[in-house]
Amino acid sequence: MHINSESIIGWYQRHKRDLPWRNTSDPYKIWISEIILQQTRVNQGLEYYLRFVDRFPDVKTLAAAELDEVLRYWQGLGYYSRARNLHKAACQINSMYNGVFPDDYQQILGLAGVGKYTAAAVSSLAFNAAYAVVDGNVYRVLSRLFGVDTPIDSTTGIKEFSELAQQFLDKSDPGMHNQALMEFGALQCVPVSPRCELCPVSAHCVAFKTDAVSQLPVKTTKVKVKNRFLNYLYIEYNGKTFIQRREENDIWKNLYEFPLIESDKLLATEELLSHPLFIEIFDGISEVVIVTTSAVRKHILTHRHIYATFTTIKINETNSYLSRLTKVANADLDRYAFSRLTMLFLEDRYKTLLE
Ligand code: SF4
Repeated sequence: MHINSESIIGWYQRHKRDLPWRNTSDPYKIWISEIILQQTRVNQGLEYYLRFVDRFPDVKTLAAAELDEVLRYWQGLGYYSRARNLHKAACQINSMYNGVFPDDYQQILGLAGVGKYTAAAVSSLAFNAAYAVVDGNVYRVLSRLFGVDTPIDSTTGIKEFSELAQQFLDKSDPGMHNQALMEFGALQCVPVSPRCELCPVSAHCVAFKTDAVSQLPVKTTKVKVKNRFLNYLYIEYNGKTFIQRREENDIWKNLYEFPLIESDKLLATEELLSHPLFIEIFDGISEVVIVTTSAVRKHILTHRHIYATFTTIKINETNSYLSRLTKVANADLDRYAFSRLTMLFLEDRYKTLLE
């Protein structure tokens, strides 16, 4: 390997964004920032990070909090399993390591929701341990710099890039090296049309020299997208409504939602009224009035496109089905964590009420 990361580190020192988790060596805060940034852009993640560490400044506070509150702080960020795992891992650290964040890579790797990437990031950034991080940015930089066209999502590719990253790592300052490489991928060696003429390593970059920048990195699989159709029932009963918690191992686990009928297409009003679950939900209620049905809302998650409607229904009494749900005054809905999709419905509804 005739190139090292010196020029990339130099570039980093000149161009890096000033972000709060870069000015700390607290493993807890680095860990929180890494988990937030896994599927979130820096601009959006920054605000969440600041609010999160303000409310939960250390492992003990996070472990002592109710999961529902943690989820509320996560509301809108998506991929809620990250928040559930943060809470679980804080409890693990509390019981296994007496609340002190472990400094050993293997112990960090053993925490809930922590994979090789996060363990390498936390142990190198907080403890300067010699573990190379390989995130999407690093894959891109390495594949171009070294001209590697092995698909980054193949088993061979994952192994090859992880070895290459480890070889390329500056063992004298792993934390700095890792941050520099990730930032370099995020700002300089960007996915589309990077400005190679301004790049400090272009003289060594195989992709640049062989005109292969736009072909690298290579990926094999395309994510298969599944469509889901959700018919939500927003029930009005004496200034209150009914919500339930999603318990299944599925999207939005542990978040709240309105009673839901999922189907293989969105249901027209007649189809909704004759659906067996709808009949069960409103069984025995003498007045069930459909007030309105919202326009179709499309919500895109990584592997799913969600199509949803919210039907507002007024009732004059409850029944045994509804009594098993959580009855909430409309004004108190903000005490519960909902998916972004539901939040947007509630925001629109609130605006309409004010008009
Ligand atoms: S020359 Fe272009 S492709 Fe190569 S590392 Fe620099 S920005 Fe990336």
